[in-house]
Amino acid sequence: MHSLKHNAEQGLEVAEQKLDILRPNQSHPTSQANTTAHDETLVYQIGNNLYINLTDRCTLTCQFCPKHNGCTDVKGYDLALEVRPPAQQIIDLIADPSRYDCIVFCGYGEPTLRLKPLLEIAHWVKQHGGKTRLNTDGLGNLVNKRNILPELSEYIDALSISLNAHNEATYIQHCQPALPGSYEAMLAFVALAPHYIKEVSASAINGLEGVDIAACRQLAESRGVHFKQRELDVVG
Ligand code: SF4
Repeated sequence: MHSLKHNAEQGLEVAEQKLDILRPNQSHPTSQANTTAHDETLVYQIGNNLYINLTDRCTLTCQFCPKHNGCTDVKGYDLALEVRPPAQQIIDLIADPSRYDCIVFCGYGEPTLRLKPLLEIAHWVKQHGGKTRLNTDGLGNLVNKRNILPELSEYIDALSISLNAHNEATYIQHCQPALPGSYEAMLAFVALAPHYIKEVSASAINGLEGVDIAACRQLAESRGVHFKQRELDVVG
């Protein structure tokens, strides 16, 4: 582990502590932060990808998200989390990343809210011959108050960013961001990401009331990233 990473980790620990006051849907006391999870779905396989359920917290409260509609089930996996799993527990569960097409940081929360363990796990995956993808709301720079893309680019091969809406009013309507400036910050992250990571896509959901899919595609493609159209009520 080189010194740059060490310095980054010191900063990240502070960021994680600060984030405890930023999580609007936080349901777990901070005292559980290092509790080991035994009965939780911490990793789950869909196709030949292995998904990592690092947190169930977000600064968004997307009205279309199943977890805000009383459902924490994805493809038969219950993604409700009572604890924040330590990186080593996830690493032990992955065991051999080269067995999978990709290790995907996703789950029912925003992985960049737990940036330190995210980077630790991704680093280990890359060291052991795996490929990594981060599914994100694109608010990692806003939440962490700095550009996290240089750190992500060390260990993340692909980024999938939820763009969700063609304008701020529609974004606020559907995603209810807790942090002011979220929409602009997400668009800035979409524009910046391809400068650090080769494979970047941004997505929006077809069928969501008021969302102009063609305009979302234009926003993504004009920022140099691939557009991915998702369909309403199709999860995973
Ligand atoms: S960012 Fe993702 S996990 Fe969080 S509320 Fe929105 S859809 Fe759900």
